[in-house]
Amino acid sequence: MKAFSYFTEKNEPRIGIESDEGRLNFTQIWSYFKEIKKFPHAPELYFLQLMVELDYFSQETFDKVLQIVKDFRGLTDLHISGNIRYDVPISRPSKILCLGRNYRAHAQEMNNPVPEAPIFFAKMPSALLAHEGAIRIPGGIGRVDHEIELAVIIGKKGRNIKEEKAMEHVAGYTIADDVTAREMQKAEAAKGKPWTLAKGMDTFCPMGPYLVPADAVADAHNLKMELSVNGETRQKGHTGDMVFKLPELISYISRFMTLEAGDIILTGTPEGVSPIKPGDRIECRVDQLGALVNTVMAAD
Ligand code: MG
Repeated sequence: MKAFSYFTEKNEPRIGIESDEGRLNFTQIWSYFKEIKKFPHAPELYFLQLMVELDYFSQETFDKVLQIVKDFRGLTDLHISGNIRYDVPISRPSKILCLGRNYRAHAQEMNNPVPEAPIFFAKMPSALLAHEGAIRIPGGIGRVDHEIELAVIIGKKGRNIKEEKAMEHVAGYTIADDVTAREMQKAEAAKGKPWTLAKGMDTFCPMGPYLVPADAVADAHNLKMELSVNGETRQKGHTGDMVFKLPELISYISRFMTLEAGDIILTGTPEGVSPIKPGDRIECRVDQLGALVNTVMAAD
């Protein structure tokens, strides 16, 4: 089961799911979630995030609601037809945290040592870009790279989270591309400056298209990932190769920052990063999470 946010041809925000029953408009039946009924005017745009924040986002919940609806009224009129435009599954996180050098071979290709503790940096929520949106590259910034990553969505607020409890704080998973202005990043790092600009520009965090509940993914460290540019494979990796695994990195960061429901953690990229340019089409695939596709254009 995969959930997603989208706009109809009339630009109306909706929630959809892909399940054994096909691709369904879930917005019409959200009132079956009794907790969410308490928010009659909840903006549809943020519905998935609301489910996450209410700790309501799970395969189990979707299955239960689908079964009730199926028995009560059927699903026939819920099938999505026509063109849709995807939105990011989580659009207003309090923060987007990212891991640097969390795959050995990527640290090596960048001539960097493998870190002894997780290296965290941040991207801005304004950098988020939906599936099929265009990455916009400002002029004169030099080389810009793609970085396919597994993104973790936090579902339960926490501080000082113990490693053995860490996975209970995960609501689900999606795909992200940690787009990086590489020349700027290197120049900033050489001067001892932070990477904020190089990593945080508008559209530099494509994410989606789906949010897959944590209980639908048996093992987040057993997923193959592959990124292609214009059909040519550039990155191939496996989430089992992370230097710091999810429990460790969630526990580590929560010693210093409260993790809020809806927060996003990008868990690092495998080797094979390479430059992108206007006109390119980038496809990021992760087992069980679908494919995130974006184009590239020059910014105004
Ligand atoms: Mg990265």
